[in-house]
Amino acid sequence: MSSSLRELSTVVSNRLAVAAERASTFVRESGLACRVGCAECCLGAHVECTPLELLPVAFDLIDEGQGEEMLASLARLQREPQSVGCVFLERQGHAPDGRLLGRCGRYARRPAVCIHFGASARLAGGGERTVVACRVMKDDDPVRVAAANAWVSARAHDALNVPSISDDAVSLMALSPAMGMQRLPFNEALKAALEKALNAVAYETDVEE
Ligand code: SF4
Ligand code: SF4
Repeated sequence: MSSSLRELSTVVSNRLAVAAERASTFVRESGLACRVGCAECCLGAHVECTPLELLPVAFDLIDEGQGEEMLASLARLQREPQSVGCVFLERQGHAPDGRLLGRCGRYARRPAVCIHFGASARLAGGGERTVVACRVMKDDDPVRVAAANAWVSARAHDALNVPSISDDAVSLMALSPAMGMQRLPFNEALKAALEKALNAVAYETDVEE
């Protein structure tokens, strides 16, 4: 069980690495960009992802000897009614307009939703693709967002070369529908991924003894 979950984690990790590379090319070529240092979306209780996307970071935490400790922290956070945002968020104060600044403590292992937000397109009504842009981007620089949308529209014939948040979600989900369809608030998704990974590692240890 453990090795197959680890193998699944490796496949997910490889897919996320490809998605991150494509997202970075998209940002470079379309001109869409996050506000420098912005961490506003890492705060959101509304940000959801799947345990599947968080399997690689769950195994990292276990391999670093932090799995149980993180699980206990996540269980504690779950009992606190006030949301504190993503557990990996390292806060760095606020911008003059009050928006949160910060950095991701696990940037190289961030899940698909974090890779794609502000760095991909989605299918809008009428079959047209539009950029996945947030309120901060639209408020900061609507002209840049419009230009990025025009860049995407100009590539309608070449849609496969424009990263798509929805297509990538479907392709990830196909790897493990049980874990890939379960959309949860970030910290809950990490808790679910850690529980599965810890169980898998415990099973592996039992078998080896
Ligand atoms: S997607 Fe928007 S809210 Fe999130 S970090 Fe980028 S600019 Fe900030
Ligand atoms: S994983 Fe990183 S980028 Fe994603 S919500 Fe958490 S802190 Fe933000």
